[in-house]
Amino acid sequence: MMALAGYPLGLRLRFFDRNPNTPAGQVADCVTAAFDDLAALERFSAGLDIVTYEFENVPVTAAQYLAGRVRHFFPPPRALEIAQDRYVQKRFFEEIGVPTSVFRPVNTRAELASAIEATGLPAVLKTRHWGYDGKGQFVLRESSDLDRAWETLGESPLILESFVRFRRELSLIAARSVTGDAVFYPLTENHHREGILRLSLAPASDASATLQERARAFAEKIFGALDYAGVLTLEMFEADGHLLANEMATRVHNSGHWTIEGAETSQFENHLRAIAGLPLGSAETRGCAAMVNFIGSLPEATEVLAIPGVHLHVYGKQPNHRRKLGHATLCAAKWQTLEASLNRLLCLAGISAPQHTSL
Ligand code: AMP
Repeated sequence: MMALAGYPLGLRLRFFDRNPNTPAGQVADCVTAAFDDLAALERFSAGLDIVTYEFENVPVTAAQYLAGRVRHFFPPPRALEIAQDRYVQKRFFEEIGVPTSVFRPVNTRAELASAIEATGLPAVLKTRHWGYDGKGQFVLRESSDLDRAWETLGESPLILESFVRFRRELSLIAARSVTGDAVFYPLTENHHREGILRLSLAPASDASATLQERARAFAEKIFGALDYAGVLTLEMFEADGHLLANEMATRVHNSGHWTIEGAETSQFENHLRAIAGLPLGSAETRGCAAMVNFIGSLPEATEVLAIPGVHLHVYGKQPNHRRKLGHATLCAAKWQTLEASLNRLLCLAGISAPQHTSL
């Protein structure tokens, strides 16, 4: 999607991936090697002006190596380093004044017991590194869950967080250019099952201007603290009218895929414009948009494309349980116009419609 956004701007992209069958490799040059293969990184960076990433598990050492070989590396390696460790990230939120849930680092069984005193129950135990899409998490509901949680996750450095009884999950996609200009998309409402994003709705229904402003202020703090360029995604919980940061992704994000058709400028295009120092495009919506993920298997294209106005994106990945294989987006001037089509799409994706949206 990044390559497809870059070509019309006259940008030429080269990709680096550990896997030979990467979707990017189907549309652009791709170097396939391990992230610690310095010769491959050198070959990859030869002749490049700018390097960026859209995967948070790129080792920071590889990022630093590349940052030393090209004119620009964005978002900065420091942002990647923070995003890779949930505990460091929460400390960072605290330091810059972005509210988040109560949290404690956990390295021993005894620390788990004392951390519970700070967070209370229920609480969520998470691995500090390599966790995404709900992997490496354990919800503790009562004291008797501690042993099982420790047995499951105890070998990794951990963080314990208080369980947030949120009304809903929201994300903010924002882009900041190397020139310092920034744009902010409207808040997106996200629905997960088993820790995986299934449905995004934008703009989030009845999100007040105050809520949008607050989210924007959080993103601005992060931008300022990290001398940031590129797209930043802030995932948040809305609880009692307040926003609590859950985590940040220093990259384009699944909850921003709706921007391809639903906004004046897509997150991918704005990411490229931001890191290339080109003027940013408008983040205004073209009405409202709903994005549905296809996880584990793809519905028949003929059935998806029979839905009026649908935009289908198939990533060309090998099917695998829990893997995001594609998505589809619907856009309309009003939610009411979308409702029937969205229900058909959700049905094809094997998801039931959420209860508490305006839909
Ligand atoms: P994460 O990998 O941190 O994004 O977590 C995946 C999903 O688990 C989130 O989208 C939430 O639905 C849920 N979750 C994570 N942390 C918490 C928390 N502290 N309280 C309640 N739900 C959570």
